Amino acid sequence: MPEPNDKLIVALVECPRCGNPFMIKKGQKRSGELICDNCIKLEQRKKQLADSVIESQKKIESSIKGYKSSLRVAKSQQTKQLYFDKIKKTSTVLNKSVELLKKIEETNDEKYIEQFKKLFEKMKKEYAENK
Ligand SMILES: [Zn+2]
Repeated sequence: MPEPNDKLIVALVECPRCGNPFMIKKGQKRSGELICDNCIKLEQRKKQLADSVIESQKKIESSIKGYKSSLRVAKSQQTKQLYFDKIKKTSTVLNKSVELLKKIEETNDEKYIEQFKKLFEKMKKEYAENK
């Protein structure tokens, strides 16, 4: 008698994240939470986007540091004002990125990812324009 096909021994379970039913192999054990493929893909997209935001945050932070040291050595009031404005605007962008990161981490909905990507593009543009 042939061995029973593994793929046929399945169980239907409910995804703890999205509630959609999905199939698992019986006795299948994955590390961590057992979630459906859609949720796994969503997690990957979230991570990718979050990593890009974190990467940008590092650049923004070092820009702010740079402006601060320029402000410290600036002689004229006009130049001081210039760097002060840059620090203020860049800090706003940094704050937005922190909020965005929080939103990305908290979402469990695919439809927001595109929206977050657009926000991120907008944020990067604002940052570049202020450079
Ligand atoms: Zn799911």
